[in-house]
Amino acid sequence: MQLRFGTNLTSEQYVSQESWRNATLERCPLHGEKRCGFRAHGTYGRKGPSGVRIARYYCRKGRTTFSLLPDFAAARLSETLAEVEETVELVESASSLLAMVTLLPELFGIAPRLAAVRLRLGIESDLLVRLRAVGASKLHALQIPLGFCQRSRSGAVIGTQPQHKVGPDPASHCR
Ligand SMILES: [Zn+2]
Repeated sequence: MQLRFGTNLTSEQYVSQESWRNATLERCPLHGEKRCGFRAHGTYGRKGPSGVRIARYYCRKGRTTFSLLPDFAAARLSETLAEVEETVELVESASSLLAMVTLLPELFGIAPRLAAVRLRLGIESDLLVRLRAVGASKLHALQIPLGFCQRSRSGAVIGTQPQHKVGPDPASHCR
């Protein structure tokens, strides 16, 4: 299961400071305590950005691995969210952005285009990184790469693997 590691660091700063060491969980997200066999579970390297490692925890009772994904990193992609944003700007039809806008009507009102959302937030770039923080409570309902939810084209949740060693982040259940 992917969880948000809220940070303002760029991927370069995150790597040079080895900030995955600061990505900690005090309690099991499933059980709210540690007696379920909750413990740190090392780190794994992402394909990109270069040098990025992700802190992991494991709950023995729930047989679930938790990965703490820093805000700059796109879920299930090796690019940073800033790089994804450049692509989205070209496409302007990213379903995760539209879903975010739909989920946060109090902030955006109607479904605007990227430029309008940036204007509303008073920023010129890194919109997706900001949106991950703004929509932190919705990340498990939002599609990758902004959120942590992955569905097949039919709408079914794609199977999850409780443990993995290296490679892309595991898909999470959509909630
Ligand atoms: Zn637990």
